[in-house]
Amino acid sequence: MNLILYVLLFFTGAAFGSFVGVIVDRLYIKSYIKGGSMCQSCARRLKWFETIPVISYIFLGGKCRKCKTKIGAEHFWIEMAGGIFAIASYEIFLKNYFLAGSEKSLLLGVVLAILFALLFIVFGVIFNYDLKNKLVPTNYALLLIIIGLAFEAYKAINYQTIYGGLTTLFWLDLFSGFLIALPFFLIYTFSNKKAVGFGDILVYFGIGYLAGFIFGISVFLLSIWIGALVSLILLYLRPKKYNKKTAIPFAPFIILATIIVMFLQLDIIGLSSLLF
Ligand SMILES: [Zn+2]
Repeated sequence: MNLILYVLLFFTGAAFGSFVGVIVDRLYIKSYIKGGSMCQSCARRLKWFETIPVISYIFLGGKCRKCKTKIGAEHFWIEMAGGIFAIASYEIFLKNYFLAGSEKSLLLGVVLAILFALLFIVFGVIFNYDLKNKLVPTNYALLLIIIGLAFEAYKAINYQTIYGGLTTLFWLDLFSGFLIALPFFLIYTFSNKKAVGFGDILVYFGIGYLAGFIFGISVFLLSIWIGALVSLILLYLRPKKYNKKTAIPFAPFIILATIIVMFLQLDIIGLSSLLF
């Protein structure tokens, strides 16, 4: 029965989401690193039934059972996102590897599943940390680049089957990280490091390799459109809190755009038909 599989996938992903929530809370705070789950406010160790992703949050009403301090709603949403990410990854990218039946495809499926789990953690931490602190954690941006390069290395090694030879797309994909990061790198350089953050450049670089050139261009365009739209809405709705000089974290838009493009396989400007 598929339902059991989906429930298992959902809670596995949600557990990863819960992990992301903990990382974001504790990142750069050394004293918090040790020990199991605890309330951030009263430092009480949590019982097992208070640590079930999604469900605990709902049953505890988003509060600590003892001190009644509110637990940030972002924890609930990261866990939900983890669950949905796991199911979508399996359905869209992993299923065929696991159902194909050969040992090689099974091994590839397991490696891909690990990469997707890592990717979710990296996306989750960068998204939420940037949203909270307006800073892209460099270690996680570098991890994203490593994951992207792993995908690119696999494609480059198997170029004959994937591209059918050393085609234009092979070369574009080989330099994709540089090409996708270039516009922001130029803005960064010519604006004296003010207009965009260096972290955003690293994120684009990693995603350029993760998504490849065609989808990378779509991610680039979509992230700018979403970013512009959200910024305009914030300027309009909250003119006191946001003005033209307020720094708005940009990495969340890049990650949102990547997830939309990857899962929907969106080639926004029809680049694949233009190139071939
Ligand atoms: Zn508490």
